[in-house]
Amino acid sequence: MAIMITDECINCGACEPECPNTAIYEGGVEWTWAGGTELSEVELEDGVVVDANETQEPYSDEFYYIVSGKCTECTGFHEEPQCAAVCPVDCCVPDPDYEETEEELVAKKEWMHLE
Ligand code: SF4
Ligand code: SF4
Repeated sequence: MAIMITDECINCGACEPECPNTAIYEGGVEWTWAGGTELSEVELEDGVVVDANETQEPYSDEFYYIVSGKCTECTGFHEEPQCAAVCPVDCCVPDPDYEETEEELVAKKEWMHLE
């Protein structure tokens, strides 16, 4: 499952540079599918296709946040979620709304990085 950041985040920023998929953004900062990936366009679950460079609304204005669609639990890059490993207050936790199998996470990683 994807990792999520809880409201216990102290906005230290330590997690952001650790993410191999650029799935972590500072609160209030817009995100893109293309940031840190090879994606050029993305078909969403509703069938809408978006330009991967198009900026998207922040998920949070107060705390660092994780774009669940880009989080792979670091599969293919690291043994464990790097954000959780560096977070000083342990507020990077599994997101129960985004349960994914190991195979799905591998496929997600390959989709983003074309490998
Ligand atoms: Fe990024 Fe890994 Fe944290 Fe997911 S678990 S947000 S891929 S650092
Ligand atoms: Fe927030 Fe933890 Fe990331 Fe620091 S490392 S910004 S406390 S989630």
